[in-house]
Amino acid sequence: DTLDSSTSEAFRVVRHPSPATDEERAEKLRDLAFGLQFTDHMARVTWDAEQGWHDRRVEPYGPIPMDPAASVLHYAQEVFEGLKAYRWADGSIHLFRPEANALRLQRSAARMALPELSVLDFMESIRSLLALDHAWVPEADGTSLYLRPFLIGTDVFLGLRPPKKVDYLLIASPSGPYFAGGVKPVSIWVERDFHRAGPGGTGAAKCGGNYAASLLPQVKAYERGFDQVLYLDAATGSVLEELGGMNVFAVRRDGTVLTPVINGNILEGITRSSIIQLLEDNELKVVERDITLAELQDGIAEGEITEVFACGTAAIVTPVGRMASSDFEVTVGDGQPGPVTLAVRDRLMGVQYGRVEDTYGWME
Ligand code: PMP
Repeated sequence: DTLDSSTSEAFRVVRHPSPATDEERAEKLRDLAFGLQFTDHMARVTWDAEQGWHDRRVEPYGPIPMDPAASVLHYAQEVFEGLKAYRWADGSIHLFRPEANALRLQRSAARMALPELSVLDFMESIRSLLALDHAWVPEADGTSLYLRPFLIGTDVFLGLRPPKKVDYLLIASPSGPYFAGGVKPVSIWVERDFHRAGPGGTGAAKCGGNYAASLLPQVKAYERGFDQVLYLDAATGSVLEELGGMNVFAVRRDGTVLTPVINGNILEGITRSSIIQLLEDNELKVVERDITLAELQDGIAEGEITEVFACGTAAIVTPVGRMASSDFEVTVGDGQPGPVTLAVRDRLMGVQYGRVEDTYGWME
């Protein structure tokens, strides 16, 4: 009886016939990189136009055979999320604001004319997967189980229309720090030739296509010796938006903190909104508004802006040490992580790893 099917909550369980042994798992959890290892199982829910969401299950992790005409392979009908499960010192496992990810997945799906998965199904998929694969949540400092929920159009049809068949999948990857080397400042290339999003486009949705389009500018920045790309708005080419996978903040000498306002072009980061709250509760003034490149460039050069940092689930809070484009290059402060950056990073990770009290009710 290798395929033991039973029901756990709403999700049917099909156990892996030969999951990793304790030794194999321990080996995979040693010296973790980001996104290379995967747990024994995955959660899955299927949707079609007649039945809606159905067939909730957890099944062995593995390839998903697909018809070559499946719509995702042609018209990129894909949206995804990223969140982490953290192992606390007492062994318990906690998620950070998972409902916010569930809601953002719904908004991304709506933008791509994909069906919305309920918050309950989203939460239940995580609970059901972790009920089987909890031993994969690593415990070493700074590690986590990265959760990747996603939706794909599986319609076998080359006509262009919203898919009549969709799969939701949840896979999980035990991961070490996103940037190897801890809180090392990153360098940023301000991109003039490519834009990430335009008015009315898909910038606010977490759809795979946005990330596909970011790879060429990322490669070019890397060839120039820079770690990450900062995008400017497509309409004027002068206003900061975000990095390829992170939101951005600037700290002024007077203690005011600036971050681009949510305008339909940038992804509404969950780390971003959490940081705004942490800063405000620490008596810092946060202003969400348009920030021009000129303001940032001059501010850094004149010492008016003392810190710049980027933030997101994967990289948490990452200081920016150097910034350049075709016509300028500046070092932010002394090029080292600044006090506001380090304090907010420490505070956020403290909440996530259960080292400080979660006064916000963010952890689940
Ligand atoms: N911007 C983009 C383009 C991203 O991909 C991400 C990562 N999801 C973020 C910002 C940060 O969002 P979050 O804090 O929710 O991870």
